[in-house]
Amino acid sequence: MLTSLSGRSVIVTGGSKGIGKGIARVFAQSGANVVVVSRHIAEAEATAEEFRAKGGTAMGFAADITSMGDLQMLAEATEKAYGGIDILCANAGIFPQTKIEELSPEDWDFVSDTNLKGTFLSVKACLPYLKKSDQGRIVITSSITGPVTGFPGWSHYAATKAGQLGFMRTACIELAKYGITVNAVLPGNIATEGLADLGPEYAQSMANSIPLKKLGTVEDIGYAALFLASKEAAYITGQTIIVDGGQILPESMDALAQA
Ligand code: NAP
Repeated sequence: MLTSLSGRSVIVTGGSKGIGKGIARVFAQSGANVVVVSRHIAEAEATAEEFRAKGGTAMGFAADITSMGDLQMLAEATEKAYGGIDILCANAGIFPQTKIEELSPEDWDFVSDTNLKGTFLSVKACLPYLKKSDQGRIVITSSITGPVTGFPGWSHYAATKAGQLGFMRTACIELAKYGITVNAVLPGNIATEGLADLGPEYAQSMANSIPLKKLGTVEDIGYAALFLASKEAAYITGQTIIVDGGQILPESMDALAQA
């Protein structure tokens, strides 16, 4: 049983749908005050309203994580609404699929600016407020793709997801003096709106390659994030938790068939 997050203030970037919504829902159910962030206020606010309807405390906020100005306004608004920032879930990310031969420098920059620089900017904007918390936590949503595995069309995406971990390993050292921990969750294939855009064949072939034989749920990631943000995880920093149903483990194409 984890100590309640009642009264704690949590920002979830990309919280309007997919994994971020799962993370935000788990935190809302745990009593935290949740700020749901996406570029589209109507979607962020609709998600916050869903949580409020179930007794949670939440608000929507429109911010683009590629904009330092947006993120500073987000941090200020969170302090104004909920008295500070205890936990940042740097989750928002994009995964357009393009093979290297067709990949343009602009495609590369767009994915990198969002996933990697966006993680840095989110941390930087929230840092002055996280420093004031006695339970400062940063939980980054990385991926198995990049840090552990590869997949055609995602060289740029994979580089950003591995890059987030490089960032984390120095951030956790720099921020330790403030009592802030920095950790990452590495999801495997999780059923989200973003993943659905890749088509049913992709989801089916992924499910077939996973020992637990199904995609993960967004709450599976939410519970891992909740643990890393908990009081009980105070001595864990610079670490990763893979949540993938065992997907990275089979040594060969037919290892699962032989099980
Ligand atoms: P998703 O369903 O497409 O949702 C993405 C969320 O991020 C939305 O709320 C979107 O809202 C927001 N967003 C995108 N760009 C943004 C920006 N520039 N500024 C602010 N918000 C932005 O994606 P997902 O599948 O949940 O993925 C979420 C994270 O999990 C990503 O970091 C991804 O790399 C990681 N991940 C996903 C999987 C998976 O299987 N789904 C696996 C491994 C890792 P708006 O469009 O309204 O801004």
